[in-house]
Amino acid sequence: MQDLFEAARGAMARAHAPYSKFPVGAAIRAEDGAIYAGANIENLSFPEGWCAETTAISHMIMGGAKRIVEVAVIAEKLALCPPCGGCRQRLAEFSDAGTKLYLCDETGVKKTMTIAEILPHSFATDVIG
Ligand SMILES: [Zn+2]
Repeated sequence: MQDLFEAARGAMARAHAPYSKFPVGAAIRAEDGAIYAGANIENLSFPEGWCAETTAISHMIMGGAKRIVEVAVIAEKLALCPPCGGCRQRLAEFSDAGTKLYLCDETGVKKTMTIAEILPHSFATDVIG
């Protein structure tokens, strides 16, 4: 998981967060083995910005992968940066209940959770289709 952590930290350095000054990085290891990273990207029109996890998911989908094996999140200004509510649902869309979530600080992984733990009773895609 060190490579995933380093990808998330590297992505955080590319955040566009001039307004909040709260850079966040996320990295996903997908079922194809590839790592897809992302950072938060803010906008002067504040509601138009989005989270690091969302950027990483976008990269994964555009890379041709569909399933998240594990995901790491880091924010330099928080000891641990759990995904926001919206990102929990976005991650759940492409995860299994046991998909690992690593909450990191600048030195490495500090807490390991599962998607089911951070979003119990999620709106489940298996009932739709
Ligand atoms: Zn979010």
